[in-house]
Amino acid sequence: MALYAAAAAVLAGVESRQGSIKGLVYSSGFQNVKPLYALVCETRRYSAVLDAVIASAGLLRAEKKLRPHLAKVLVYELLLGKGFRGGGGRWKPVLGRHQARLKAELARLKVHRGVSRNEDLLEVESRPGSASQVPRFVRVNTLKTCCDDVVDYFKRQGFSYQGRASSLDDLRALKGKHFLLDPLLPELLVFPAQTDLHEHPLYQAGHFILQDKASCLPAMLLAAPPGSHVIDACAAPGNKTSHLAALLKNQGKIFAFDLDAKRLASMATLLARAGVSCCELAEEDFLAVSPSDPRYRQVRYILLDPSCSGSGMLTRQLEEPGAGTPSKERLRALAGFQQRALCHALTFPSLQRLVYSTCSLCQEENEDVVRDALQQNPGAFRLVPVLPSWPHRGLGTFPGAEHCLRASPETTFTGGFFIAVIERVEVPSSVSQAEALARDLTPSPAPKRKKRRRKAAAGASTSLGT
Ligand code: SAM
Repeated sequence: MALYAAAAAVLAGVESRQGSIKGLVYSSGFQNVKPLYALVCETRRYSAVLDAVIASAGLLRAEKKLRPHLAKVLVYELLLGKGFRGGGGRWKPVLGRHQARLKAELARLKVHRGVSRNEDLLEVESRPGSASQVPRFVRVNTLKTCCDDVVDYFKRQGFSYQGRASSLDDLRALKGKHFLLDPLLPELLVFPAQTDLHEHPLYQAGHFILQDKASCLPAMLLAAPPGSHVIDACAAPGNKTSHLAALLKNQGKIFAFDLDAKRLASMATLLARAGVSCCELAEEDFLAVSPSDPRYRQVRYILLDPSCSGSGMLTRQLEEPGAGTPSKERLRALAGFQQRALCHALTFPSLQRLVYSTCSLCQEENEDVVRDALQQNPGAFRLVPVLPSWPHRGLGTFPGAEHCLRASPETTFTGGFFIAVIERVEVPSSVSQAEALARDLTPSPAPKRKKRRRKAAAGASTSLGT
C-alpha cells in the first residue's frame, strides 16, 4: 500500500477509535513504519488547520472521489510537509490543480489569525482549557490489579505521585512526570495531557485502560452491584463494558450488543486483555433484542451509549469551531435512532436503572432524546439527580433537565459528553413475578440463537464475526 493511502487508513482508524496511532501503524502491514508514523502524527497535529483549508478551498466538493482522510494527508504533504515524497500517484495532478487555491487559503488563515509561521497556527490549541490540554486519564483495571500497585509501578519508572487531587485546578496544573488520583473517581489516575502510555507494559497487559474521565461516568453512575444482570446495548469497542465488568467484579452477567462485526472483534480482544469473564457479546441490532426473551428477565440495568455525531470528541473539538457539527439530516437520523433505542430499552420488564450517554454536544441527541422518551412513558420513569457538585449540567430545556450531566474541556477538563440517569418510578409487579419465575425455573435448553454469540474471557480470540 502506498504511504498516503496507509496514512489515511490509520487516521480513519484513530478517529473511529479503533486503536492508537502506533497500534494501527504496526497492524497496517505497511513496511516502512517510521515515515508512516511521523506522517500520521504530523497530519493529526495540523488536523484543524488542514480541515479549515480544505473546507474553504472547496477541495472535497470539487473532487468527489477524494476521501476526507486521504485529502488531509495529501494537503499536509503539499502545504506543510516535504512535497509528494510518497509519490502521490493519480492524486498528484489533481492536487496540483488545487494547489494555488489551497496555498491562498492557508495564507488567508494565517492573516486571519494574525500569525506568520505555520507552527503559530497550532498555538491556539495549546491554550489552557482547549481540547489538546485535557489530561491523560488512566483507569486502573481492578479485575487485574489495584491502584496502589499501578501507582508504585509508575513511581519506580520515575513518575512523581502527588496523591488525590482536591480540585480541577490541581489537574490543570499537572506537568512533566507528575501524576494524581482524580478527585471524583476512585480508580482514575491523571497524567499531563501529552503523556503517551499506549506502549506502556501495564496498558499492554490490560492493567489499565486509557479512558477519558467523562467516559468513565456512565458505568459508575449505573451503579449495578456485583451479581447483577446488565445490558450494554451499543457496546463496541468496549471500554464501558470492561469498566462495568470491573465494577461487577466479574460477578453477574453483561449482555453486550453491537451491529459492527469489526468493532466487536476489537472488543473481544480488549475484554480478553482486561480479564473480563462475565460478558456475552452478540453481533445483534439492539432494537431487535426482545425484552420478553427469558434470558433478559433479570436485567435491571441498561447502559445505552448509542452511535452519535461525536461532536464532543476531543479529536473533533481540536478542529475548527463548527467543523464537527453534523448536518441537519444526519442529526435527525441519529436522534431518531437514539430515541428508538432509548424507548426500546425502557420496555425491558425488570429494568430499574438506565444510563443514557453520548459524546455529542448537540441538544437534539441529548436532552431532546431524554425528554421525548420520558414523555412517551408518562409517570413511569424519572431522571435521577446525580453528582450534585458536577459543574456542568444539562441544558434547561425541560423541567428536571438539570439532573443530566454535560462535560467539556472548558468546564470539566474532559472530552465533551452527555449523561442522563433514568430510574423506574415504581418497581413493577412484573419484576417480582420475573424473579419468582427465575428462581423456580429449571434450566431449559437454550433457545436457537439467530446471531453469533460468544463469552468474552481471557484468551478469547479476536475473530468474532469473521
Ligand atoms: N459504549 C462503547 C464504548 O464505551 O466503548 C462505545 C459505543 S459507540 C458510541 C456506539 C456503538 O453502537 C457503535 O459501535 C455502533 O456499531 C453501535 N450500534 C449502532 N447501531 C446499533 C444497533 N442498532 N444495535 C447495536 N449496536 C449499534
